[in-house]
Amino acid sequence: MHYKLFVFDLDETLWTVSEGLCSLVKPPFNFTSPDRLETNEGFWIELKSGVHNLFNFLREQEVYISIASRNDHKPTMEILSAFGLSDNLAYPQIGWRPKDEMLTRIIRRIQKRDKVKIKHDEVFFLDDWPDNIKPARDWGATALLYGQDVLSHDELVTMLK
Ligand SMILES: [Mg+2]
Repeated sequence: MHYKLFVFDLDETLWTVSEGLCSLVKPPFNFTSPDRLETNEGFWIELKSGVHNLFNFLREQEVYISIASRNDHKPTMEILSAFGLSDNLAYPQIGWRPKDEMLTRIIRRIQKRDKVKIKHDEVFFLDDWPDNIKPARDWGATALLYGQDVLSHDELVTMLK
């Protein structure tokens, strides 16, 4: 595996949100299926097909997994945790910085903690928004557009194998 770090956007990349941003969907949640949670107000978040399979595959490869999402940190981490996706994420960046700055912060923190140096071209980034892809490519990551370059998470696993 050439890549040492995989960074994912959340809204409309790992999951679909009823409206706007996932951090507007606040607990208490009810799971209406293992991959779908809803609030009493009728907001919902649905995990896209194949996300658990993708994370399991990446964990077997012993690569770092992280998040770069423009949302409020605390409610978003609660949603990741509710879906069972929050374990062992490498310094998830959930906030309002540009995505290329988020990538820089993740690799700096990994280097500081683990003494592992990750080059920019060893970072894989997936996002559904073209305006986030360009700065990540300019930064030096392999940045693919979900919905165009990658149509599903199962397809991504096949591409990476
Ligand atoms: Mg998005």
